Amino acid sequence: MSLIVLSHDHCALHQPPKGHPERPQRLEAALRGIEQIENHIRQQAEAVSREQLLLAHGPNYLANLDNLAASGSQIALDADTHLGPHSLEAASLAAGAACQAVDRTVKDEDTRAFAVVRPPGHHAESARAMGFCLYNSIAIAALHALDAHGLQRVAICDFDVHHGNGTEAILAGENRILFLSSHQAPLYPGTGNPEAPHASNIRNATLPAGSGSNEFRELWLERLLPEVDRFRPQLILISAGFDGHWRDPLAQLQLKDEDYYWIGEQLADLARQHAGGRLAASLEGGYDLKALEESVLAFGEALV
Ligand SMILES: [Zn+2]
Repeated sequence: MSLIVLSHDHCALHQPPKGHPERPQRLEAALRGIEQIENHIRQQAEAVSREQLLLAHGPNYLANLDNLAASGSQIALDADTHLGPHSLEAASLAAGAACQAVDRTVKDEDTRAFAVVRPPGHHAESARAMGFCLYNSIAIAALHALDAHGLQRVAICDFDVHHGNGTEAILAGENRILFLSSHQAPLYPGTGNPEAPHASNIRNATLPAGSGSNEFRELWLERLLPEVDRFRPQLILISAGFDGHWRDPLAQLQLKDEDYYWIGEQLADLARQHAGGRLAASLEGGYDLKALEESVLAFGEALV
């Protein structure tokens, strides 16, 4: 079994200010992990189309970002989300890679695809950039799967340490998509409380700071994986964030490389049971370079 890896060098051209954790070196680190996977096939990502962006984002938001980018200067969209002259090119390639990952796995049964890209996407809302994210790649890819391939049941599993607030906001009430997220709480962005009112296609589950392998696996085994199983998805998408790793500086979970192998294996099993093996992942967070390299390797190994 081989893993199709979609990436592009220009994803490194998005350059937040010096010292920002979401830095170009993350792309190199993730690709160093990929290089160690024997059965991978690297493919050049292409930019997302305007029509695909419009599946998840409002036209005014997109036009506003275009206008700001055209100024050619570095602009802070919020305290930690920055737009520079090449940021939209990088974000377009990231979202395009996620859509092409869907195309590859839908077309060739039993093929897994992984968009190894930056910036991440799961905090971006329909009309708001936030949390290092400009375009919500995974929401765009899921809606593209419905729109272009006519799928009726797509599950998005988000194991990034932060809640995928943007993905939830964009997809709430879209019952052809089930969105499931595990995340540390309390933590940025402060959303994703399972007790708070939410749409019927949303499943949130939280872990307190300090939680490790046992708590993470128990949460997915007892709360989230059975929901994926019940939903019988025709395609499994993954917001693959590795910032729950014990080395990561932005959060306080204690996950190890093996936990990313484990979740990859669990999700690949469910994809085999329900979706003809169709599974596509997109890189979200992960801010310690060594942890990112090793976690991407472990997760990728589980998919081949
Ligand atoms: Zn994150």
